[in-house]
Amino acid sequence: MTIATILARKGMKLVTIRPEQTLREGLAMLSEHSIGALVVADGQGTLVGILSERDIVREAVRNEQFFDLAVSAIMTRNVISGQPQDDLNAVAMTMTNKRFRHLPILDGGTLVGVISLGDIVKAQRDEYLGAIDTLESQIIDERAS
Ligand code: AMP
Repeated sequence: MTIATILARKGMKLVTIRPEQTLREGLAMLSEHSIGALVVADGQGTLVGILSERDIVREAVRNEQFFDLAVSAIMTRNVISGQPQDDLNAVAMTMTNKRFRHLPILDGGTLVGVISLGDIVKAQRDEYLGAIDTLESQIIDERAS
């Protein structure tokens, strides 16, 4: 299964924030959309960073006045991204090894979505359940013949 299949199933919903917006706005967006990370894009829609709830928690512990900071002050700039044609299991391996749960997807340099580890786990489960269904019907067919 490819990332494109997962994106097609979950829809192209992509919540972005601009680097000059505040962490207060970022928190409001994370809460409103019930998500764990925001893709940071500039005015042209170019990917410039990622802001995870973990980044905000880390900053909040060392600085109680964090609400008015700009997103750019604490976002991760070296973003690892994927492409629609990437294989699900390869992406799952990268995310597990590198210990992050969100992967922005770029198609020819254009942001088209974000995949979370939760999306990957669900897709893998659906794939395994489908394979089990197929095997069960093959066994039933063989017994009946
Ligand atoms: P997460 O587990 O995705 O909530 O994020 C854990 C840490 O990894 C945070 O510091 C994020 O900013 C960073 N991070 C999340 N996704 C990515 C990504 N695709 N590329 C690089 N860093 C990331």
